[in-house]
Amino acid sequence: MIQANEQAVRTVVEEVLAQLRGPSATPAAASSALSSVPSSGADGDWGVFSQVNDAVDAAERAFRQLQDKTIEDRARAISCVVKICSTQCDELGRAELEETRIGRLDHKIEKLQIIKLVPGVEFLRSDALSGDRGLTVTEYAPFGVIGAITPVTHSLPTLAGNVVNMVAAGNTLVVNPHPSGARIACEGVRRFNRAIRDAIGIENLVTIVSEPTLETANEIFEHRGVRLLVVTGGPGVARAALASRKRAIVAGPGNPPVVVDETADLDNAAASIVSGAAYDNNLLCIGEKEVFAVESIFDPLLEAVSQNGGYRLSADQMAQLAGIAFSPPTEPGGHLVLNRDLVGADASVLAELIGVRVPVGTQLLYGETAGDSPFVSEEQMMPCVPFVRCRDASAGIEMALEAEHGFGHTSIIHSRNVRTMTEMGRAMNTTLFIKNGPCTAALGLGGEGYLSYSIATPTGEGVTNPLTFTRQRRWAMVDDLRLI
Ligand code: NAD
Repeated sequence: MIQANEQAVRTVVEEVLAQLRGPSATPAAASSALSSVPSSGADGDWGVFSQVNDAVDAAERAFRQLQDKTIEDRARAISCVVKICSTQCDELGRAELEETRIGRLDHKIEKLQIIKLVPGVEFLRSDALSGDRGLTVTEYAPFGVIGAITPVTHSLPTLAGNVVNMVAAGNTLVVNPHPSGARIACEGVRRFNRAIRDAIGIENLVTIVSEPTLETANEIFEHRGVRLLVVTGGPGVARAALASRKRAIVAGPGNPPVVVDETADLDNAAASIVSGAAYDNNLLCIGEKEVFAVESIFDPLLEAVSQNGGYRLSADQMAQLAGIAFSPPTEPGGHLVLNRDLVGADASVLAELIGVRVPVGTQLLYGETAGDSPFVSEEQMMPCVPFVRCRDASAGIEMALEAEHGFGHTSIIHSRNVRTMTEMGRAMNTTLFIKNGPCTAALGLGGEGYLSYSIATPTGEGVTNPLTFTRQRRWAMVDDLRLI
C-alpha cells in the first residue's frame, strides 16, 4: 500500500517536473489564470514559445502546410479567431484590462467583439488584362512568415486583427507582444491555435514569444525566416522598424488634432469628440487628442461637451494636471516625458489627482488651454483633452498642423464648409481625415469602410487589409486565352 502511494507520488512529481521543463513553464504561461485547457500542442504550448527561433520555425512549418490548403480553409481558420473574440470577449477583455491596467472594460470587450469587422478572404482578388497579345493575370501571393510587433494599448485586438488579415492572405505570423500585454496575447494565441488545429489541422498559424523584450523584437527583425515586419506602436519601435534591413509596414504614433469652425453642428461635434477621445480612455492612436475651436463658437462648444459626458476643468486645473502627467525633457530640446501611470486611467482617477470629484458617468476631462500646453503637443493617451481658442478656421488648421508633428496619422474637422474641409484635408495630409464624426468613423464604426487596428502611417499602406500582406505575382499567356 505504502509502495503504491510512493509510486503515485513519484509519478506526479515527474509529471510536474516535466511540465516545468517544457515550454509551458514560461512565466507568462505559468502565471496565466486563463489557461483552462491543459497545454499539449504537438509542437509546444499551442504556439507560445520561449525562443524566437522555435517560434519562427513552427510558423514556417505552418506556412508550408497552409500553402497546401484552400482559401476556404483560410476562411475557416479566420472564423475560429472571430468566434473566440466574439464569444469569449467578456473573459478575454477583462483579463486584458487586469493585466495592462489601462483603458475601460466596456471598450476592451467591444474591441474584441468587433474583430468580425476586420476583412478576411473576401478581400482577395486577382487582376486580369486581356488583349491582342493574350492574357496576363496578377495574383496576390503570401509573403510567408510575418514578424508582428503589437502595442499594449490593444494587445489582443491588434494580434487578432493581424491574424485575420495575414492568414486571409495566406501568411503565418510570429508575434512579439508588448511585455505589459504579453499574458493575454499568449492566451489568445493558445485559444486560436487549438481551435484552428481542430478546424483545419494546422497547429501554429500564429506563434508568439512568451517573454518579449527588445532583444526578442530585434531577433525577429533579423531572423532570416521572417519575410516581412509589421509593427504597431509608438515612435521608438516605429524608428527601429524603419531602420531595419527588412521591408517593414509601420503603424506608427499619432496625435490627432480636431478643428471646429463656426459652421459646425456643435452638439454633434461635442458628442463626437467625447465619443472618440473617451474611447478606452483615449488609448486609440486615432483618438481626438486636442481641439482647436474658433472664437465665435468656443464657449457654446465647451458648454455642449459638458452635456455629452465631459467635465470641464479650469485653466489652472488643466495646468495642474499637466504638471502631473508630464515631466520636463531629460535632455535639452527633448520631448516632455509622459507619466505612464496616468496612461489609460479613468477620468475620475485623473480628476482626483488634482483634488476634483467628478459626477458618476464622466467620460472625459477637458478645458481651455493655450496652444503651448503639453496636452496639445504630446500624445497624452488619457481622457483629458485641451481646447484651444483660435481666431478663425485657417489659424486652427495651422495649429493643428503643428500639433500633428508630421506623423501623417489622423486629423478631424467639424464644419459644414466644404472649402474649409478641403483646406484642412490638403494641409494636414494625414492617412485618416474625418469630417463631422468621431475618429472611429474612419474605421467603419459609424462611417463607411472596414476595421483594422494597424494603420500604416509612415510607410503609406493606410488601414491595413489582407492585400497589404501580399506580394504581386504576374503570369502572361502569350497570344492565347483572349476568347473574344
Ligand atoms: P510602444 O512603442 O511602447 O510599444 C509598442 C511595441 O514595440 C511593444 O511591443 C514594445 O515592446 C515594442 N518596442 C518598443 N520599442 C522598441 C524598439 N526600439 N525595438 C523593438 N521593439 C520595441 O507603444 P505602446 O505604448 O504599446 O502603444 C502606443 C503607441 O502606439 C502610441 O504611440 C500609438 O499612437 C501607437 N499605435 C499606433 C497604431 C496605428 O495603427 N498606427 C495602433 C496602436 C497604437
